[in-house]
Amino acid sequence: MVTHDVIVVGAGLAGMRASVEIAREGLSVGLVSKVHPVRSHSVAAQGGINAAMRPTDSWENHMFDTVKGSDYLGDQDAIETLCREAPEDIMELERMGAVFSRDAEGKIAQRPFGGQGYPRTCYLADRTGHGLVHLMYEQLMKHNVCLYEEWHVVKIVVEDGTVRGVVSLEFATGKLHRLHSRAVIVATGGYGRVFRSTTNALTSTGDGMALALRAGATLMDMEFVQFHPTTLKRTGILITEGARGEGGYLVNSEGERFMKRYAPQKLELASRDVVSRAEQQEVEEGRGVDGCVLLDLRHLGEDRINERLPQIRELAIAFAGVDPVREPIPIKPGVHYSMGGVMTDVWGRTPVEGLYACGEAACVSVHGANRLGGNSLLETIVFGRRTGRSAAEYVVSIPFRPFPDRALADAAREIATIMNRTEGELFTTIRDEAKATMEAHCGIFRDEQRLVRGLEKIREIRKRYENNVFLSSRQNSYNTELVNIIETANILELSEVILLSALDRKESRGAHYRRDYPERDDEGWLKHTLVAIEDGAYRIGYKPVVITRFKPTERRY
Ligand SMILES: Cc1cc2nc3c(=O)[nH]c(=O)nc-3n(C[C@H](O)[C@H](O)[C@H](O)COP(=O)(O)OP(=O)(O)OC[C@H]3O[C@@H](n4cnc5c(N)ncnc54)[C@H](O)[C@@H]3O)c2cc1C
Repeated sequence: MVTHDVIVVGAGLAGMRASVEIAREGLSVGLVSKVHPVRSHSVAAQGGINAAMRPTDSWENHMFDTVKGSDYLGDQDAIETLCREAPEDIMELERMGAVFSRDAEGKIAQRPFGGQGYPRTCYLADRTGHGLVHLMYEQLMKHNVCLYEEWHVVKIVVEDGTVRGVVSLEFATGKLHRLHSRAVIVATGGYGRVFRSTTNALTSTGDGMALALRAGATLMDMEFVQFHPTTLKRTGILITEGARGEGGYLVNSEGERFMKRYAPQKLELASRDVVSRAEQQEVEEGRGVDGCVLLDLRHLGEDRINERLPQIRELAIAFAGVDPVREPIPIKPGVHYSMGGVMTDVWGRTPVEGLYACGEAACVSVHGANRLGGNSLLETIVFGRRTGRSAAEYVVSIPFRPFPDRALADAAREIATIMNRTEGELFTTIRDEAKATMEAHCGIFRDEQRLVRGLEKIREIRKRYENNVFLSSRQNSYNTELVNIIETANILELSEVILLSALDRKESRGAHYRRDYPERDDEGWLKHTLVAIEDGAYRIGYKPVVITRFKPTERRY
């Protein structure tokens, strides 16, 4: 029987940081990941991580920018925690060995990022995630964290209202295993792959959010899907906000720097929701270039591009055939980040006893209706640490109780039903139709009619999945088709929750823009949207926003 004090599901920065915190207490951690830890999506983060590190900046400034960026939907107690604790966490990363880029005085360099009044984004060139993920992986080795890599969690087991562990599929053998624990931390990252065009890794299918929802947790603010303003034309690969932070600008087909009309002060460095909508509007009004607008870096010069944005140059040459030293890069908005997620408090606790969440899978909520660039890596570190700590404190007072075979048998039966079907529809058609539906019906601009039709379509597609999805490969070892089918169920579940939440919120705020309700409505909607499952059906609820220092005012950039 496999047992650990805590099982952490997900080995991105949040899961690894939480694991290290628990292992430091001498407790046993099982860290389960469907890919090797350094392949987690965190590795792809480019631009950097925020903290007020200079005497001329302050955590209060950082907090204000974050609250404003969130369109006043972020909980201010959580945002205060994030911003106050950030500098110490950056110093700890540095002590662990993070090789941050330096300024001329040898201090940790900081670049400007969107929606922020001060250059406070620390970075490792344009490969910040890569550097931090490898750093944290070394920490796992140092603290002897027990790793289950290429293990896919299919169920979080809750008995008598308390978490007991997880059921996981081992890729290499195709076997299901019971992993018992006193607490489970969900750190499975975002759900970008619910949409067709996304910057997210193939593995970002929102599994943990769907698993937690089925285990009794609540999902919060799921209608807020972040579109990043600069993703490559065909592939959706990210071009970091750091490119605009370093001075790059956006032009339309007429060569006009159009952000002047949308955000006269901050221009390209307005918040992401504002810039993405501006681009989409330019394209819809006929001033686009083949469905895109252009990101111009040429004036930065070859030396600066090579020093600060080397990966961006490589990506643009390899995936768009454009060398940014000589030509502007065609870019468009693409799905990038999940502001919503598993509802937690500032210690990562969910309402289900023993169930925790952190990182992009969680909604604390520090990002509210729109996340600022550089705050997500920060969230993984600050709240990964805090969640690890609170889970470690919790488990020492909890008796160990294994869960029955029944939980594994249920999971096995669900898989067998699909395995035993001799004909039906391949998951690829089902999944791709779902993604296209989300893109067409729940994109940057939304309205009631489109959302209602989207919901109908997703429900039809879910029925087809449940009754008809068919597995062509019978192999036990490394059956990636089976894993994709399991992920498709999560994509479908989250699609429905996102659409329900988007339909419910009758206002425009941050990344959620309703053409039929174009104004922000604080009287009616200054509240979080909650979705839980009750008696087999989704139930929508609300939670007030925590407001401490900054009263909501109109947001302008
Ligand atoms: C291209 C890109 C660039 C970005 N750049 C920045 C940036 O510069 N600054 C910034 O602040 N933010 C950035 N972000 C956002 C930020 O990187 C992410 O929000 C953050 O890294 C998420 O970390 P995480 O630990 O929560 O999840 P992830 O890193 O996504 O890790 C998820 C983990 O969960 C595991 N997992 C998932 N499902 C299962 C399952 N069913 N069973 C077992 N394991 C599972 C995966 O194997 C993986 O280990 C960027 C995001 C992208 C996509």
